[in-house]
Order: sequence, then structure tokens, then C-alpha cells
Amino acid sequence: MESHGACVIKTIFNFLLSIFTMLFASKYNSPKIMKTILIKNPLAVATMNDNGAEFSGGHILIEDSIIKSIGTEALDIPADEIIDASDMVITPGFINTHHHLYQTLTRNIPLMQDQPLFPWLTNHYEVWREITTEAIQVSTQIGLLELLKSGVTTTSDHLYLFPAQASPELIDTEIEAARALGVRFQPTRGSMSLGKSKGGLPPDDVVQTETEIQKDTERLVAKYHDTSPGAMIRISLAPCSPFSVTQKLMKQTALYANDNQLQVHTHLAETLDEEKFCLETLGQRPVGLMQELGWLTDNSWYAHAVHLNDAEIKIMGQNQVGVSHCPSSNMRLGSGIARIRELLDAGVKVSLGVDGSASNDSSDMLLEMRNAMLISRLREKQYWLTARNVLRMATRGGAAALGRDDIGELSVGKQADLALFDMGGLSQAGSLSDPVSSLIFTTRRGSVDYLIVQGQIIFNSEQSHVDEAKLIEKQNRIAVEMIQQAQSRTGIDFLNHNSK
Ligand SMILES: [Zn+2]
Repeated sequence: MESHGACVIKTIFNFLLSIFTMLFASKYNSPKIMKTILIKNPLAVATMNDNGAEFSGGHILIEDSIIKSIGTEALDIPADEIIDASDMVITPGFINTHHHLYQTLTRNIPLMQDQPLFPWLTNHYEVWREITTEAIQVSTQIGLLELLKSGVTTTSDHLYLFPAQASPELIDTEIEAARALGVRFQPTRGSMSLGKSKGGLPPDDVVQTETEIQKDTERLVAKYHDTSPGAMIRISLAPCSPFSVTQKLMKQTALYANDNQLQVHTHLAETLDEEKFCLETLGQRPVGLMQELGWLTDNSWYAHAVHLNDAEIKIMGQNQVGVSHCPSSNMRLGSGIARIRELLDAGVKVSLGVDGSASNDSSDMLLEMRNAMLISRLREKQYWLTARNVLRMATRGGAAALGRDDIGELSVGKQADLALFDMGGLSQAGSLSDPVSSLIFTTRRGSVDYLIVQGQIIFNSEQSHVDEAKLIEKQNRIAVEMIQQAQSRTGIDFLNHNSK
């Protein structure tokens, strides 16, 4: 017979054992609880898979961050979230491959509204040199919100401006903003080392030394670059253009990127002025120069690529390079019409970029797709792009240009990055004979209805997530201050259309 004391000790022991077992089991033994989203009966799904499959009805099942099941058969199972998509077109989330988010602060400034690239750049540099950490923080959020409301789930950004008076850690600030909004982000560590005194276009106090650039590149890669599938942050490297850094830095950048499995990016063949500058100062056309610098590789992607000859298109295809087509910017600056049909036929990985808001004034990927389709039709019929061509550029093309194979399509095992658009609006009335192309042919007002990134609904048109009014007020205040400061420092009248 047990004593009373022994009985109490045994009871306490059993109680503690049961607590321990419960805690241990919950941490190590119990199956992980999956979060599921079931999308039912869609109006149309454009999978952008290898066969370009599309269907209507059926389902998409998301489990955690991954597409678990997709198909035409109806699925009626419990899920954490169920979305009735009977009025919606579903596409992979769009991938924007070229932007300068800080430029949302400098849209349509009167003096630069009607200028082509070089004077447009020289004048903008005087305003951009006023950028601060707060300016980057606010303008990045504004640009990202615009992008995600147009269906973007992944974006790149090209920040190459590091004014002496600002913090050198501006890309860290951008990353924070992207993380807070839940968008997948591939910022590029931009750079400029040739200021005016060394023959470049920008003022000397917005460029850095090449040692500073290299050191900060290493810091960012070590701190943020995530090579794992489904990564939310990846760093790429992007000298502003082959003329804003030395050839030595261009070569070093390519070698460092190869050694560290990074993508490289820059502007290329944007205008005829650039071609002329290149021929006169370097005796080379832009693509020839890039080849000599070791940049025509399958981990590179170029913004614009407008002025290319047949041989250049061929060699870019042979080397599997990527291109970010920016039709709105090319029209706004009168740069020209890129030869996209030929680039696609040559095997170049063609993607789409909205480009900075000082040369587009908008960050809307649906508009960019529409403009890509329309501008191609200013050429002969054989070069026209279809709605599906530009949709593929904004999804699979974007993934390929950024060096990823886990996003850009709706297939089992891929990342659950989706955009859902309700097609019941005024501008879509009468367009539902082909709901997928309606997204591009018609001008859809209003935001995406659901945006899913990594299996999380990061935007839902019925809920507000950010205090937009406060953000817009801040952005407008900073934009005015930057122009006023630049104006009083330089004496340039930025608000006058007719100043030089
Ligand atoms: Zn650009």
C-alpha cells in the first residue's frame, strides 16, 4: 500500500509528464498545420504553363506557399479560405523586371515632360540628389502599392543613386518596405562611379567610389540574398549603364555575379543618342561593348534594348540573355520601338518592366501589357504581339529574366503567386467572349481583387491594409520639397515647361 506522500509525488510526476508530452508532441511530433486556400469555379484561368493551358470552372488549391492542385474538376473540400471566382480571371502574379521606385516622387515635372533621355536625365539628377531615407521609404511604398494593385507579385528595382547627404543603406530601406507589404522583391544594387568631372552625366555628389560600391554589394548579398526556392528576397547587381561606371567595374561585376550565382542588370541600347555616344567615345555599338565586358551571359537582363541590329539580336538569343521591354517609357521619351517579335524569335528571354515613374508616370503592369501589344502594332503585321504574347512576357518571361523557375506559372509545385481580377466592370461589359485577353485589350479600372503571394492573400480589394491617405500626403510633401530645394540650389526653373 502506497503512503499518502508517495501518492502525491506520483500524481505530481504524472501531471508534469503529461504537460511535457503535450509540449514535446506539439513541437516535434504533431503534423504541421497547413493553411489552405481553395479557389472555386473560376471564369477563366491562364496557367502560363509550357503548353499555355487555359480553362474555366474547376479549382485551384493552395497549401501553405505552394499550388497543391489545379484543374477543371470541381473540388468540394473544407479550406481555411474559400474564394468564389466565378466572375474572375486568374493569372500568375505579374513580374515587373525594371523600375526605379524612387521616381514616383518625380512624375511629370513640367521642365522634363517633353525632353528626350539625356536632357531629361541631367535635369532629373538635380532633383534626385535631394533624396533622403524618408523619401526612399515613402516612394518605395507608393510604387509597390501601385504595382501590386495592378497584379504584380514580384518586382525588381534599380536603385543606383546614393547621394552623399543620404544614408548609404537605401536598399535596406526598400527591402523593409517590400517585406511589410508582402511582395516578392529582387532589388538590384545599382551603381554610378563616373560623375560629371569624370565625363559622366550625374553630378559628382550622387556617385560613389568603386571601393564603396563593391563593399556595399558584398554586405547586401551576405545580409539578404536568398537562393532557396520560393525566396522572397534576392539581390542582383546593376551598374546604371555601361557609361556611368568604369569598364573595370563592369568586368568585376560580371565576375563577382558569376562566382556568387547572381543576376546582372543594366540599361542598354535605349536611344540613338546612346548609340552615337558609344560609337564616338568608345568606337563600339552598345551590344559589342557588353560582349567585350563579359556581360552577354544567361544571368544578365537588360532594360530597353530598343536599337539593335539583326546580328545583335541573334547573339543575344544565342547567349540566352534577358530583356526588360518598357514600352510606356520608350514612348514617353521618344526612344523608339523595340524589336520584340524578333527578340522572342531569337530566343531572348523577353520580360516587361514599367520603368521608373519619371518616364512612365505610372506603375501599372496591365497598362504596360496593353502598351506592349499596341506599340508592336505600329510596325508591320508580321511583328505584331498578341495579348497572350504580352501576358507570357509579364509572367514566364519575367521569371526567366530574373533567373527563377519557381514563379510565373500556375502549376502544381510552383509558388502560389496569383492575381485574381473580377471582370464584372463597365469596361469589360461585352468582352467576355475571351476573358483572358479582355485583361489586356480593355482598360480595366480599379485594383486586382485578390493578390496572393507565397500562399498568403496580401491584398484584397474589400479591405484596406495601409493608410494610403497618409502615405500620399507624405509623398506629395516630399516631392514638393525636393523640387524646391533643387530649384534654390541650381536656379533651374523646374516648374516651367519652356526652360532649357
Ligand atoms: Zn530605367
